Amino acid sequence: MSSFSEDDAFEAAAVPLSQQAMARPDMEYLKDLNSPQREAVETLDGPVLMLAGAGTGKTKALTARIAHLQSMRRAGENDILAVTFTNKAAREMAKRVRSMMPWPIAGVKWLGTFHSISARVLRHHAELIGLKSSFTILDTDDQIRLLKQIIEAAEIDIKRWPARMLAGIIDDWKNRAFTPSNVPVAESGAFDHKGVELYAEYQRRLRVLNAVDFGDILLHTVTIFQENADVLERWRRTFKYILVDEYQDTNVAQYLWLRLLADGHKNICCVGDDDQSIYGWRGAEVGNILRFEKDFPGAHVVRLEENYRSTPHILAAASGVIAANKGRLGKTLFTSRTDGEKVRLIGHWDGEEEARWIGEEVEAMQRGTRGMSPIGLDDMAILVRASHQMRAFEDRFLTIGLPYRVIGGPRFYERMEIRDVMAYFRLAVSPEDDLAFERIVNTPKRGLGDKAVQTIQRTARSNGVSLVEGARLVCQGKLLGGRGLKELTILVAGLDRWHGQVRAEADTHVELAEMILDESGYTGFWQNDKTPEAPGRLENLKELVKALENFENLQGFLEHVSLIMDNETEEQGEKVSIMTLHAAKGLEFPAVFLPGWEDGLFPSQRSMDESGMKGLEEERRLAYVGITRAEEICTVSFAANRRVYGQWQSAMPSRFIDELPQDHVEVLTPPGLYGGGYGAAGMSASASPAMAGMVGSDLHEKAHKADVYNSPGWKRLQSRSQNRGMSMPSEARNMTIDMDAVSAFTEGERVFHQKFGYGEVMGIEGDKLVIEFDKAGSKHVVARFIVSADKADDVPF
Ligand code: ATP
Ligand code: MG
Repeated sequence: MSSFSEDDAFEAAAVPLSQQAMARPDMEYLKDLNSPQREAVETLDGPVLMLAGAGTGKTKALTARIAHLQSMRRAGENDILAVTFTNKAAREMAKRVRSMMPWPIAGVKWLGTFHSISARVLRHHAELIGLKSSFTILDTDDQIRLLKQIIEAAEIDIKRWPARMLAGIIDDWKNRAFTPSNVPVAESGAFDHKGVELYAEYQRRLRVLNAVDFGDILLHTVTIFQENADVLERWRRTFKYILVDEYQDTNVAQYLWLRLLADGHKNICCVGDDDQSIYGWRGAEVGNILRFEKDFPGAHVVRLEENYRSTPHILAAASGVIAANKGRLGKTLFTSRTDGEKVRLIGHWDGEEEARWIGEEVEAMQRGTRGMSPIGLDDMAILVRASHQMRAFEDRFLTIGLPYRVIGGPRFYERMEIRDVMAYFRLAVSPEDDLAFERIVNTPKRGLGDKAVQTIQRTARSNGVSLVEGARLVCQGKLLGGRGLKELTILVAGLDRWHGQVRAEADTHVELAEMILDESGYTGFWQNDKTPEAPGRLENLKELVKALENFENLQGFLEHVSLIMDNETEEQGEKVSIMTLHAAKGLEFPAVFLPGWEDGLFPSQRSMDESGMKGLEEERRLAYVGITRAEEICTVSFAANRRVYGQWQSAMPSRFIDELPQDHVEVLTPPGLYGGGYGAAGMSASASPAMAGMVGSDLHEKAHKADVYNSPGWKRLQSRSQNRGMSMPSEARNMTIDMDAVSAFTEGERVFHQKFGYGEVMGIEGDKLVIEFDKAGSKHVVARFIVSADKADDVPF
């Protein structure tokens, strides 16, 4: 068993006892809590469960509990294990705890995500599971590459049995805490009956590479705890009090991990909301929270019912949607607020227009609109169902210069050049990391093509050593010729040098990083590259070195990158946030936009296809999470048309729109349609220069309007609204019904028809336009199939 090294600090109190004894906890934080919250905070011993709806102050109470445990001197800052859902949430919680404490504390040492805490525990005991403590955490790409090799080596047809499929199966087993030896017999047919065998081989290869994947971080720790009573006992003594936020989204492995740790003293406090369980697709088991009282008999259960976050309309809209789910626990939620606007609903022509409108709306809110005080960009968020939806917003916001941040989206660290350099860093820390070696051996180009790499691999295999060692043998035996040999010798020498620096633990990791970038030839490679992307990539490399400055050493940095869940830029200034609904869990914003509420997109078709009713209910919980993020203004929108994989498709408004209780919803008129008719801000295309600029021309705009109202999506919404007497503005009703698409065009206007090409409008006959086409001659055509000539490039027929 490894010894406890740096973390032995947990034995030591961070604040001198003399100082603690003098401190008089005034417990200001208790005054901010209602009585059930106080009860949850002050019940320090034994199991406590807070199962309550969104915005009822669960996280607030959990945070106060951490402070209270310390104020009451039940625990020091090293004795509390607090698990949050993201690293960002952990940082925020730590900050709040510090501000609540009657005496200064350095921070709560074991506050983080399951993965970040478990990775730290695992480093202490890596050898118990056959790893070195310097193990690498693989990302998905590396995982897939490794699995591909394993599948091919087993002579399985990779086309029929792709690596991603196997990755999914293995991940699922790991989430359910199955090692290769205890996968249930009923699942032995997985992956053409070879799944379990390949899983075992994958685990073996990971060990050789001194690597783990994400699932292993938890699974290995659970195995270590189960097989080493002394180790478990040690950690049980360390984590005197355990607190878990978002407990409804724990998977089996996380659950076991917690139970093993909590079973001794049972000082565990879990909070969550069954209606917000949104990670079933990743193995989360809502049953964990529902079973808490059985798992921990005598648990003190606290119910919170007052929502402090949202206006009554927002709360009612969210409650209305979630009510359609079956098998809920069902909770009462109320707010003492009486003010606030209805949830706003708006339909758009397409996704681009939706982004354009939201951009305008964000700017209008920032200025202060409709008598409301201005809302800062930090206080606004756009929550999407799928990350690909972000692109339209990013593009639009870049165009209009609206500062934004993407949280949890495609990240800086996922960029190619960053991943290349990270592979060098990984090798400097752990030369056994063959996947990293494969990535960089010929990056930049060193004349070490496939053949050379095969020679290295063969040599490594036959000698039972890592690829770096294999490469060394190749150099010594001169098994390669010419430039390749020379370059490989230089590379191996470089890797030795860099690893030597890491081992020497010299406090110079930033210089080391610069040295690696320089000596490997990687920076030079991009400096010589003449493509337009090269300058950006060089900027990114600089940024990477800058990021390193925040860490003590290279290893800490690598671990951080493997684990980060969110993407934060250091740039100053307010920004509107864009993120997925999943990433928004636990957060709150005064203004929230929920775009893309279309059947197929939200609820996601895939989720419904894969999991049927269960999938649909999980999607509905996502809708609930989305709406309940909003404090003051919640705007739901949908587009009538959307480009999916390059194809235009008309879309139906989401069924969740139907489920929004009508008394709490206001249907907004689409922009530009009613002569600036939407609100005091005059948010119409004609009134807004930015939007008018984008639309292009007035005529074009008319074509737009006609099509929005002819789209099946809009018609469906209209008929639903009428059937249900939804509060559609009167001019919208009239315009929608009377709107004759042909009137959107004027005589002499240049237009485009997908089949007949360009032409000129000659007149109107009945419900048809008479058009003189340049090539096809005179035709009578339905206006729906016509657009203004200047929009011909993106005709969504
Ligand atoms: P979610 O389910 O979305 O995670 P939650 O139950 O964790 O929500 P919190 O985020 O803790 O709720 O609290 C929601 C908001 O209500 C926060 O702004 C918080 O500061 C505020 N709040 C919580 N409790 C109280 C209280 N007793 N008095 C006033 N405001 C409160
Ligand atoms: Mg919370």
